[in-house]
Amino acid sequence: MKLNPNLKNVTNVKKLTLGKVCPSCHYIVPVHERYCYHCGLNFMKHARCAVVDAGKHSFPTMRDTQTCPKCHHKISGTNRYCNYCGYDMLKNQ
Ligand SMILES: [Zn+2]
Ligand SMILES: [Zn+2]
Repeated sequence: MKLNPNLKNVTNVKKLTLGKVCPSCHYIVPVHERYCYHCGLNFMKHARCAVVDAGKHSFPTMRDTQTCPKCHHKISGTNRYCNYCGYDMLKNQ
């Protein structure tokens, strides 16, 4: 049985870091995010974001975390907005 030669390519695609360009603030955020953590934009309402290869782009690390008071998800400490619910973290201070 021959291995599918496309299989290797599929693996490569999965390893690719995909980002999307926020139509509001033009920052690149990970493609799976529901809310922009720079400006709080709801991506559900903006389905047509440009998807880019974000391999060279560094996203916030989870080394320093904060807990969203609204949805109680742990998010990166550098996030201005919660990427799960769009909560403005500065309101909490
Ligand atoms: Zn944004
Ligand atoms: Zn939240």
